Amino acid sequence: MRKGILFIISGPAGSGKGTVVKELISSHSDIALSVSATTRQPRPGEEHGVHYFFITKKEFENRINSGDILEYTTYRDNYYGTPLKEVKKALDKGKDIILEIEVDGAMQVKRKIRNSVAIMLTPPDFDTLESRLRGRGTEKEEDIVWRLNRAKEEIQLLPKYDYSVINENGKARECADMVYNIIKAEHQKTKNTKKDLIKKFI
Ligand code: 5GP
Repeated sequence: MRKGILFIISGPAGSGKGTVVKELISSHSDIALSVSATTRQPRPGEEHGVHYFFITKKEFENRINSGDILEYTTYRDNYYGTPLKEVKKALDKGKDIILEIEVDGAMQVKRKIRNSVAIMLTPPDFDTLESRLRGRGTEKEEDIVWRLNRAKEEIQLLPKYDYSVINENGKARECADMVYNIIKAEHQKTKNTKKDLIKKFI
């Protein structure tokens, strides 16, 4: 059976990664999205268990201590982390799984899961990033400034990622297709095909 691969998708605020990931998941049923846990407050329209598991700081710390978190970080004074069990289950079933996480968590996963693949989505440039972030109107000015500065730090980790994909304005579909092409190509890497394929010949 084909083995699932873990894909990390990161991108600074304003990279449009949420939209791209939604496009990708909705058109490919063999790819699952990991739902993270967080201690931040839900934004309007966000649902528990769908967008995040919204839990308390105490619950989050209990989960860290019980080893149930694959990676975690603090972002804007809130914890964000990936529940381990669901990721394992999906990979064991042969599903590819996507973690939509920031750079610190991404580096933890790359260290722990050697076969994982990290993709960074970026807007075309900083000005586009800023106008997207301001345009969505979901954050206070203070949050926007914090996220803009954070974006400058995050982009410097680009060389540690395996792939970068630019998400041009209005091109989320094309960007999702590019990510899907990367996913397909990763499955064709000989490290992922050699065992089964050679067996069929000798
Ligand atoms: P937001 O508050 O905008 O939903 O997310 C803030 C940042 O946290 C985003 O960069 C998002 O990708 C990241 N994030 C979401 N879930 C996780 C997670 O489980 N682990 C880590 N390390 N980052 C996450």
